Amino acid sequence: MQTIGVLAAEHIAVGLVENNQIVGSIRNLPENTSDTNYLLELPADELVEALRQQIEFVRKNHNVTAVGVGFPGIIHNGVVEESPNLQQIKGHDLANALSYMLSSSGVPTSVHVLNDADAFAAGIAATKGLLDRLVRVWTLGNGVGYGRYPLTPGVWEGGHAVVTLDPKETFCNCGGRGHLEGIMGYRAMRRRFLDLEPDEVFEHAREGDKRCVDFAKMWHQALAAATASTIHMSGPGKFFISGHNAKYIDPDLLDLYVREMVRMSSLQGSTFEVVPIEHETGIIGAALSAERLGAQASLPK
Ligand SMILES: [Zn+2]
Repeated sequence: MQTIGVLAAEHIAVGLVENNQIVGSIRNLPENTSDTNYLLELPADELVEALRQQIEFVRKNHNVTAVGVGFPGIIHNGVVEESPNLQQIKGHDLANALSYMLSSSGVPTSVHVLNDADAFAAGIAATKGLLDRLVRVWTLGNGVGYGRYPLTPGVWEGGHAVVTLDPKETFCNCGGRGHLEGIMGYRAMRRRFLDLEPDEVFEHAREGDKRCVDFAKMWHQALAAATASTIHMSGPGKFFISGHNAKYIDPDLLDLYVREMVRMSSLQGSTFEVVPIEHETGIIGAALSAERLGAQASLPK
């Protein structure tokens, strides 16, 4: 069975998937994948149309009836209820819109939309032989994503976990106080350090600059705190860390902080692995979710 997986986070990436592997090449829009502002500037209707076109292109000459789309934000029954980093699409019934457009060519096509970090977690589970495990992933980019596999109904906005009660911590893009993303998010770091880019902050930290050393510690403590919270809710296990800013992670320091924060013996033993952000993984995860949840996915009414 062939399925199409789509990742629409910073740009659009579409691939044909069979047996949890990409078949052929991935289609990217824009082709220059380092242009991370492309989707930010696209009006909602054009964004949906761009998705349709890319999916149609990959579908050509293949019998595909299920499409999975990983999209940033809170997704509920195919509707984008909230998307702080792609606000133009808030409230859109993305699954039904795409399903309707794709089916109009004559082939009934179900579309399943899920959070992009959840797609990434499903992709990690599929490609690392962990389909029978609980897989959790933090994606560190402009925002902070939290994905988990197996897919479970819920909100899972772990990037907005409250990790500090300090009233001065107001850098999160959503406006909430004390959030993980307000400390770890790329935009939040730029707002905090008006005189330094995030790369420079971590470079200065390595050189011993106190302000930057203190921040780098807090940055790791924040992720440890959010991780400890999920361990206290869902138990210990394997955590993956990915995204452009995963390069700043010191796994040993993170491990140390988590061990300080999780003291119950039955909850210890979590491990961390930094993995590169690869579109393939998200595409495979989105396709897998569409395949597994095909019965629940949206078909045009
Ligand atoms: Zn927030």
